[in-house]
Amino acid sequence: MTKTNLKGLNQTALEEFVTSLGEPKYRAGQIFQWLYKERASSFDEMTNLSQSLRTTLNDVAFIEQFRLVTHQTSAIDGTKKFLFELSDGKKIETVVIPPRTTAVDVEDRLTICVSSQVGCALDCTFCATASMGFLRNLTTGEILNQFLTAQRFSDKPITNIVFMGMGEPMLNYDNAMAAVDIFTDQNGFGISPRRITISTAGYANFIKRMADEDRKPKLALSLHSMRDDIRGDLMPINKKYNVEELISALEYYKHKTRKGVMLEYIVFDGVNDTAEDVRLLTKVFRRLDCRINLIPFHSIEFTNPHGLSSTLHGASKEGIEKFWKALRRNEVTVFIRHSAGVDIDAACGQLAVKEESAVL
Ligand code: SF4
Repeated sequence: MTKTNLKGLNQTALEEFVTSLGEPKYRAGQIFQWLYKERASSFDEMTNLSQSLRTTLNDVAFIEQFRLVTHQTSAIDGTKKFLFELSDGKKIETVVIPPRTTAVDVEDRLTICVSSQVGCALDCTFCATASMGFLRNLTTGEILNQFLTAQRFSDKPITNIVFMGMGEPMLNYDNAMAAVDIFTDQNGFGISPRRITISTAGYANFIKRMADEDRKPKLALSLHSMRDDIRGDLMPINKKYNVEELISALEYYKHKTRKGVMLEYIVFDGVNDTAEDVRLLTKVFRRLDCRINLIPFHSIEFTNPHGLSSTLHGASKEGIEKFWKALRRNEVTVFIRHSAGVDIDAACGQLAVKEESAVL
């Protein structure tokens, strides 16, 4: 008999499951709290369930587990990178990033960058994950397990979640949103949706879907250029949804949800850091009234890049500051994001599991 994985089920699905066993509905609420609030890893820990129900659950269900293969800590900034093995042997990486500043409002922040897929199909030229190709979507339980396992190795509570690890979360929309629902459920992880960010490489249709469904987490777009020719070279997805379609989708999202959006922008030397790029970014800022994050490019030399990937160079620190200042002069809300975990290949765009590669 195939056992049912209870990790990743929401309250409604758990109710259906327990009633199919002849149990009252309230048992679902108890199991939900054990799984996500108490973070139980076995049915035997669920002491307010009857012994006979615990025995039945051991016979017909299981709680999906993770194997931690390795974890590394950055000597520079304390960022931690985890390598996990999934139940089918595939591997993914997850990163936990401590705050970079001692400002009062962020000193207690601890951010986890979760993966949503094993590998990625989108082939962005600057990203190490692209070198793996796409292997499969993560289950809701596997997304939750990244948090649960990483938390055990963190000395304070993880407070923020960004879907910016391996994969495009919009292409695993249902599982990613189911995980968000459990992260934010008061009987689950109880994390405010304002502390969760979904980042997309550019699926205008899913941006609109998030708006139509009134999804609560924050939304970020990996923009990297306002020019279709350059963005298309950097991110092939731009050929499916071009810049104007994306900006229109963000306008729709803002109008419908009344929430702000973020634009992520890796600054490449001589590629997207010209006066024309300042002009175009200023224009889109005025249209969207959004926050723009400038990100340093992190080397993906370890993936043996070829073609355009091998020719990309990040702007220098001074170059990024010059670009930032030009935008600030135009009163754009723009920030420079600091690198985290560069010495352990854990920084933005560097996640990849070589032995999992579908294409190398
Ligand atoms: S940047 Fe994101 S969407 Fe693009 S290849 Fe990497 S993981 Fe996929």
